Amino acid sequence: MAKVVLNQVDKRFSDSIAAVSELNLEVADREFLVLVGPSGCGKTTTLRMIAGLEEVSSGQIAIGGRDVTHVSPKDRDIAMVFQNYALYPHMTVRRNMAFGLRLRYGGNFVSRLWRRWRDAENAAKREEQYRQIPEKVDQVADTLGIRKLLDRYPRELSGGERQRVALGRAIVREPAAFLFDEPLSNLDAKLRVEMRRELKELHRRLGATMIYVTHDQVEAMTLGDRIAVMDKGVLQQVGPPGEVYHKPANRFVASFLGTPGMNLLEGELVEENGRFQFRSSGLQLDIAANQRPQQEPSGARQVVLGVRPEDILFAEASSADWLAAGHGQVELIESLGDVGFVHIRLPGDGVNDAVLPRLTAKAGIDSADGMFLGSGLKEQTV
Ligand code: ADP
Ligand code: MG
Repeated sequence: MAKVVLNQVDKRFSDSIAAVSELNLEVADREFLVLVGPSGCGKTTTLRMIAGLEEVSSGQIAIGGRDVTHVSPKDRDIAMVFQNYALYPHMTVRRNMAFGLRLRYGGNFVSRLWRRWRDAENAAKREEQYRQIPEKVDQVADTLGIRKLLDRYPRELSGGERQRVALGRAIVREPAAFLFDEPLSNLDAKLRVEMRRELKELHRRLGATMIYVTHDQVEAMTLGDRIAVMDKGVLQQVGPPGEVYHKPANRFVASFLGTPGMNLLEGELVEENGRFQFRSSGLQLDIAANQRPQQEPSGARQVVLGVRPEDILFAEASSADWLAAGHGQVELIESLGDVGFVHIRLPGDGVNDAVLPRLTAKAGIDSADGMFLGSGLKEQTV
């Protein structure tokens, strides 16, 4: 198993297309790292450069302490699982799974003779490994619950089964690292959740280094030991999911993670008698000591306040609490059953999103003037 290191990696497809810029990333041995970002941000390109399917424009890539920047894909000892599975249509599942190993340990009659002549001991070892391929394929098929599919062709499989076969084909090769490019995005929602769990379990069992690309922030949050957020070819932040979620490095990360993302409110940070307050035309929020910016302002200062939708509290129209914070108008409610997305218009701030759990339990919430925006800060009671 192996550590994967990218050092100042750049990829330009042309002068105008910088797909990846100055990427520095260290994936620890046995780590599950998720590379997440919107479509077109450079995730696939990054993965393909690690796999060697794409040349870097500049920078270095090391796998397991070995510089592989100019090593061909087959000699990098990694396996890649694609979104579209990329199975060979004319081969059975068994042959699809065995293919990589047969290439590695097999060869034609002449090349085998040549090997035996050059290095008899090594040749014997390889032939033994070649003989063990069917057994290995069976073992992995058992692990993934696809043994009964071994004699079928890809066209005779469902999407979920194909994905399992693609996974199996990667696992039999026992690579130093696994690369996944949106492997679950062609599956329906229920299967996706199931496979997500299985992948996490598989990672635990194999103890392998895995780099997983997705545009889906739920997959990123649930799968990653750490997540790396990219935008426009540039790495924005790397860290454990909780840290990236609660301490986003910038506005992009703040609004990309979460459903919906963080509300970003522009206003002033004002100090009065040693207390800090955020003020905009519709809001007045006391800022708790641990939420203050690191550089405290002198006098009033323009700031952006980030508030997670789930941290917003609502109060009744008749309650005095709302005066402490501010109020807004409900523009739209989208109910998902258990949770709802409430779009609130704040005076001067445009529409902001708030998630209100257990929407149905709150009577009268949809009257346009019965809504109040409470504090977004957990430390504060409203
Ligand atoms: P993602 O996987 O995050 O959706 P990609 O890595 O596929 O993004 O693409 C990053 C950028 O590089 C995009 O602007 C894309 O259009 C461009 N790009 C990707 N592959 C090529 C290519 N072979 N030739 C030219 N531009 C490319
Ligand atoms: Mg992609």
